[in-house]
Amino acid sequence: MYVSAKEMLIKAKAGHYAVPQININNLEWTKAALQTAQELNAPIILGVSEGAGKYMCGFKTVADMTKAIIDGLGITVPVALHLDHGSYEGCYACMDAGFLSVMFDGSHYPIEENIEKTRELVRVTSERGISLEAEVGSIGGEEDGVIGAGEVANPAECKQIADLGVTMLAAGIGNIHGKYPENWAGLSFDALEKIQALTSEMPLVLHGGTGIPEDMIRRSIELGVSKINVNTECQLAFAAATRGYVEAGKDLQGKGFDPRKLLAPGVEAIKATVKEKMTLFGCIGKA
Ligand SMILES: [Zn+2]
Repeated sequence: MYVSAKEMLIKAKAGHYAVPQININNLEWTKAALQTAQELNAPIILGVSEGAGKYMCGFKTVADMTKAIIDGLGITVPVALHLDHGSYEGCYACMDAGFLSVMFDGSHYPIEENIEKTRELVRVTSERGISLEAEVGSIGGEEDGVIGAGEVANPAECKQIADLGVTMLAAGIGNIHGKYPENWAGLSFDALEKIQALTSEMPLVLHGGTGIPEDMIRRSIELGVSKINVNTECQLAFAAATRGYVEAGKDLQGKGFDPRKLLAPGVEAIKATVKEKMTLFGCIGKA
């Protein structure tokens, strides 16, 4: 079922579990994520960065492909296709292409400008029944080439953005994108508690889900996180499984070079990663 992320996140927040955002890169990725969600009867959000959208020949290709896969595989669990770290213009492009969920990342603007642009997008998305994620305080690591420094968001600014009527809010709490460095200080639960206290019912989003220890993930869900983004971990799992296949010489045996065979171990590895995350986030059976 192709839907916005609103209802699934309200349910997740009330039920104290989180919905994974699995970033997709191609048909195999999309199929693997959707099949796993269906098998586990779980809601899912498919994340698409602007770079991934370009790679997949534009947002319309992604939206049409996703809808067609949902139809072709008979997927009945709620699926939200979501723009990840969108620019202001990117949000409009995705809405026009058929996305029912977008993230506007205005964290690199001064807070006043972030508020103004987010306010305008709240108006447009609510008219169209589209869910909107906003961001306060940049999240460290690399987002499509933009390097951030692992900030902790200002709780008062989080409240200002939440009060505009966004669907969900991403706030930096020491989390970063990509692999975590050895000397990482961990998540700031103190900041998360303050943000949660001020934003109450607002579903909070944790970016950079790869490599955060499981106990920290569980604690953040207890403190109001309802959506957790998973990207790098699926990429690492896919790459390792594909490497294993080639290093074992399987592409040289029989028709092992057939892309449907060559990519199969990677697809299975993505499925296993999605299943592992859904188990940890507590969303199995919540569709
Ligand atoms: Zn992110």
